[in-house]
Amino acid sequence: SDLRPVTVIGLGPMGQAMAAALIRAGHSVTLWNRTPSRADELVAGGATLAPSPAAAVAAGKLTILSLTDYPAMYDILGPLAGEPGALADCTLVNLSSDTPDVSRQAATWAASHGARFVTGGVMVPAPMIGTSDSYAFYSGARDAYDRSEPVLRILGEPRYLGTDPGLAQLFYQAHLDVFLTCLSSLLHATALVTAAGVPAAEFLPGALTTLTDIPAMIGDGLELARALEAGEHPGDLSTARMMGATAEHILRTSETAGVDVELPKAVRSHYQRAVAAGHGDQDWTALYEVIRARR
Ligand code: NDP
Repeated sequence: SDLRPVTVIGLGPMGQAMAAALIRAGHSVTLWNRTPSRADELVAGGATLAPSPAAAVAAGKLTILSLTDYPAMYDILGPLAGEPGALADCTLVNLSSDTPDVSRQAATWAASHGARFVTGGVMVPAPMIGTSDSYAFYSGARDAYDRSEPVLRILGEPRYLGTDPGLAQLFYQAHLDVFLTCLSSLLHATALVTAAGVPAAEFLPGALTTLTDIPAMIGDGLELARALEAGEHPGDLSTARMMGATAEHILRTSETAGVDVELPKAVRSHYQRAVAAGHGDQDWTALYEVIRARR
C-alpha cells in the first residue's frame, strides 16, 4: 500500500475526521490549523502538529485543505507563495467549499507557484468520512489526481469528473441544490399539516415515501437526461397544466394556513411560465425550458 506522508490543513469537524481516517490507515500525518488546540486529540493519536503552514506543506508532497472557503486557503498559503519554491512540486487537494469560478482561479494561482492542484467536494457529513458510504467529487489536473487517488480513497470513494477544476464544486452545489430544496419542502409540508392541527408524526413517514417515489418515477435518470437535452416533453399524464393546478392549490392552502409561501410561489411560477410559453399540454419536464433560461 501507499503510505506516503500526508498533510492536513484545516481542522474543523471535516478536517479532523479526514486526519483521523488517514492516521487509522497508517499514514504519517502532519497538521496545521489556525487554532492549534484543535489538533490536540489527533496529536495524541500520532499526528504531528507543524509550527507553520510552510513547515506543514514541506512535510510531504500531498497537502489536503479542509477550510470554510477558498479565501481561507489564501490567508494560510498566500504568504508562502511569496517564498521562492515553497509551493513547488507539491500537490494541493482543496476540499473546501466555494464556487466553481473561485476553484478555477485557485488552480491557476497554484500552478503559477509550481503547485499541482486538485479540487474536491465531499458529499457526506464528517462522521461518515472513511466509511463505505462516503464519496467525494474531484476535478483538476489528471496526473495530480491519479497520484493522490490512493490517499483520497481512504476518505471515501473518489469520483473524478474531469480536468476543469470547477467541476467538483459544480457537482457539489448541484447535489446540494436538490438536497436543500427537498429539505425545505419537507419542512414546509410539515408546517402545512401541523397548521391544521395534525401531529407531524402522522405526516413525516409518508412524506419520506414521496421522496423515494421520485426514483421510481424517473428511473435511472438517463431517459430524463436525454429528453431534457433534446427538448422533448411528450406526455399526457403529468402535464404542466395539471401539475401547475396542484402547485396553485398548494400556494393557496399555504396562504390560508398562514405558513411561509415563498417556496410554493417559486414552484407555481415555474408552472405558470411554462404554461404561458405554450408548454401546458406537454409533460411536466417542459418546466426545464423555463428553468434553464436565464431571465
Ligand atoms: P468549517 O467550514 O467551519 O471550517 C473550519 C476550518 O476552516 C477551521 O480549520 C478553521 O480554522 C478554518 N478557517 C476558516 N477561515 C479561516 C481563515 N481565514 N484562516 C485560517 N483558517 C480558517 O468546518 P468543517 O470542517 O465542517 O468544513 C470544512 C469544509 O468542508 C467546508 O468547506 C464545508 O463546506 C465542507 N464540508 C463539510 C461537511 C461537514 O459535515 N462538516 C460536509 C461536506 C462538506 P479555526 O479552527 O482556526 O477556526
